[in-house]
Amino acid sequence: MSLVIVGARGRMGHALQEAALSAGQTIVGLVDREEGSSDVSGVSVPVITDWHPVLKDGHTVIDFSAPAVTVAIAQAAASHRCPLVIGTTGIDAQGREAIQAASKVVPVVFAPNYSIGVSVLLEITERVAKVLNAQSYDAEIVEAHHHFKKDAPSGTALGLAQAVARGRAVDLETVACYGREGMVGARPQGEIGIHAVRGGDVVGDHVVSFYGEGERVELRHQATSRRTFAEGAVRAAGWLSGKAPGLYTMRHVLGFDPV
Ligand code: NAD
Repeated sequence: MSLVIVGARGRMGHALQEAALSAGQTIVGLVDREEGSSDVSGVSVPVITDWHPVLKDGHTVIDFSAPAVTVAIAQAAASHRCPLVIGTTGIDAQGREAIQAASKVVPVVFAPNYSIGVSVLLEITERVAKVLNAQSYDAEIVEAHHHFKKDAPSGTALGLAQAVARGRAVDLETVACYGREGMVGARPQGEIGIHAVRGGDVVGDHVVSFYGEGERVELRHQATSRRTFAEGAVRAAGWLSGKAPGLYTMRHVLGFDPV
């Protein structure tokens, strides 16, 4: 597999290079907004700002950069027929449309979190939310990330909230509560609370709590290294090989959903 990594000089960009090299994959392009070179595991690879020369049929693109870049890279990957793995979070509705359009032409994996543990947590959360229902249990999601993180709440927290909503067969936007402040009154039954904490070097913590009368159930995931996301994204890139155009998630990659 030959990989092009977009956002190569970022925190995830470095972790992706390490994960790709240790999985024996070939990196054919490193892209970021500033030129330079990247030295991972003793191998120095130039970082370029224009991705067009490195996007070729047969190369797979992994993007962990910024939402505006992701929209442009989705269009470019489609026109060069490159499968695409998108890890960037904070993508708005217009960005999601661009990703949808690209997925009509090339296979795309788009996931808010590439850790295998979080994929399992998403699966479990939906099942637990079905049993610990809105009539008897209050669902609250709390996430914590490092102080550089730009978007809030995290894409993973939103994915977990959607999993609770799916388990309870409700539309998330009609029951979501993004943080609380002031005289908010009693908690409405069925509300799904979503809260973001920022500080220090936290790689990514997520807790889904179901508060009942006399008991509390907590589902918790803590990422201690970016390597877990990088390895999942490299695995997703390998999984894309030979797949038909379409929009896939880690649920497909891990076999929770049929292709
Ligand atoms: P970062 O800020 O360390 O890295 C982002 C990189 O993108 C930087 O090197 C920056 O220069 C580059 N970039 C920005 N604008 C660019 C442009 N116009 N052209 C080319 N490169 C550009 O951030 P990070 O912590 O590596 O995270 C990157 C993204 O990945 C964020 O959206 C983050 O939320 C997301 N993320 C996703 C997962 C997941 O599993 N899906 C895990 C961790 C982080």
